[in-house]
Amino acid sequence: MLRYKSRTTLNFTGRRLLQTQTPPPTSQEYLQLAGAYKSLKPRPTPLSTLLSFGSPLTPSSIVLSASYVLEELPRRLVQRVRSMEALPYIVGMNPFIARTLESYRQTFQDLATAPPVVDAASNIEFTRRLENLVRSHANDIPVLARGFQECAKYMRPEVISSFLDGAIRSRIAIRFIAEQHIALTRALKLHPGTQTVPSLEPTHSRGVVDSECSPFEMVNLCTTFVHELCVGTFGMAPDVTIDGMTDVTFPYVPVHVEYVLTEILKNAFRATVENHQRKYGIHSTGPLPQVQITIAYATLPPVPPSVETSFSDNEASTAVSTRKPPSYLSIRVRDQGGGVDPKDLQRIFSYAFTTARGVLNTEDSDLEGGPYAMQAVGGLAGIADTGSMDTDGGDAGGLFGEIVGKGLQTGLGTIAGLGYGLPMARLYASYFGGSLELISMHGHGTDVFIKFRCLDENTNIEV
Ligand code: ADP
Ligand code: MG
Repeated sequence: MLRYKSRTTLNFTGRRLLQTQTPPPTSQEYLQLAGAYKSLKPRPTPLSTLLSFGSPLTPSSIVLSASYVLEELPRRLVQRVRSMEALPYIVGMNPFIARTLESYRQTFQDLATAPPVVDAASNIEFTRRLENLVRSHANDIPVLARGFQECAKYMRPEVISSFLDGAIRSRIAIRFIAEQHIALTRALKLHPGTQTVPSLEPTHSRGVVDSECSPFEMVNLCTTFVHELCVGTFGMAPDVTIDGMTDVTFPYVPVHVEYVLTEILKNAFRATVENHQRKYGIHSTGPLPQVQITIAYATLPPVPPSVETSFSDNEASTAVSTRKPPSYLSIRVRDQGGGVDPKDLQRIFSYAFTTARGVLNTEDSDLEGGPYAMQAVGGLAGIADTGSMDTDGGDAGGLFGEIVGKGLQTGLGTIAGLGYGLPMARLYASYFGGSLELISMHGHGTDVFIKFRCLDENTNIEV
């Protein structure tokens, strides 16, 4: 196996390995397939198109949805493969990165060669394939994180950062498309009067978008988990208060909300306890200042109608566009954990930046380790087991393996000490047009403002 040397001590061969790209696989079948996809680029798809397969949801709409997924996902998967193949050879040879690349190649091949879906029954077979896809990629992020941690000396941080931004954004889209189809298939199967045979009666489903996602419930769910995790790690945890518009609901993807909230709460809890221990000593039992969570919902003021004039055959026609303004659901997480040291402020959104003590070092081969790979007894595992995030009780490992399902323990435990929480939470929040900002009041505490853009009918967002 390749041994890694620092950049300055690389010999001629080492430098060449850095300049050469990762070699493609040798299987002729694979090469032909990848060649056939060479000119097929991903096609950004309006969210409304994806949602339209579920309204109404019929045996023929599910076939349309499957055809779309079959057409689109291999394009996106092969693009991921190519971007990993473009990494310097020495990086692509890292066992963690090589493992991820290989699993993307396999998934691409598996989907690109899947038989066409012609009816609702053949869709069930296809959906099983998709469920395998979701399951087999559950641990991608911690595995990649580990790989890049080991390769940090071979790539500039900005290059790693932009690679990871692209990889994670594309992963969010791939999983969204796959899970949307899985959810629609389940909804069709579960439609009254049918158990295994798809219903012939139209029904309606928005798939993974919950039209009445309750931020209050999400905050409670995540707080319960993070509280347990925090007690397991430090022996104490702050209480949480929730105020503002606690009754409001909004259309969104609950697992995205769950991911963002969990990361932000973990940071707030950890800061609160560590700040307390800094002030009063490690044996102080409290009380700890509460973490305050505030919920708000608002719609932007209406946009004045814009008049568009078009000319054809010397005739002018005007169309008045009255696009409805977007609505946002905001959550502020306020802690009294002492804030962020000003010298760190520039770096907290960088991948792998962490002030967690005893950060994983490259000698450590246990992915499940890390300083905050807490004994998640009944924590994440509990959420996954009860299927609480899985609205129809089925289980494909959850939407985002790093959050729920089997990958959860490993993913969350690892990511907590790897400095991936903030950059990834911001990517998730901004995916559909929202945002995430952190404001630190050094010496006192931190406010994190999360804004989710509501996924209602008038969103012209592309996946
Ligand atoms: P990790 O939690 O694994 O360290 P994150 O990306 O979640 O990674 O956070 C990066 C760093 O930002 C943390 O290590 C911590 O130094 C700082 N940070 C984040 N949130 C807070 C907070 N609420 N209070 C104080 N520091 C914070
Ligand atoms: Mg964190």
